[in-house]
Amino acid sequence: MTIDKTHQAIRPDAELSAEQFRVLRQKGTERPFSGALWDEHRDGRYVCAGCDTELFRSETKFDSGTGWPSFSAPAEDGAVATETDRSMWMTRVEALCSTCGGHLGHVFDDGPDPTGQRYCINSASLRFTPEG
Ligand code: FE
Repeated sequence: MTIDKTHQAIRPDAELSAEQFRVLRQKGTERPFSGALWDEHRDGRYVCAGCDTELFRSETKFDSGTGWPSFSAPAEDGAVATETDRSMWMTRVEALCSTCGGHLGHVFDDGPDPTGQRYCINSASLRFTPEG
């Protein structure tokens, strides 16, 4: 995947919170049930905390029981990029923002219909805007 690091919309490191920086820019993982958005049930949009690109919508959010915000699909095809992640002695599919390359979380194949996918996303990588 090619990422344009000069994209003007990318938020400078200094404007991120320590937790946003650790997750988005250092591929960290927040503790389950610790983030701001795992229990968010309002209608609205979820944008990348690193560049404000819309990544997910409430329509595809579901309760996975994992303690992380979980979605069955991205907001638009191509909004979320994936790469193989062989860290932590596992092979997983990493989810990244297609626009800024920020780390979001991982994708698993045990999600609900119709996609069967579970985008397991760190709250710190997202900003939520309620509808209306
Ligand atoms: Fe981004």
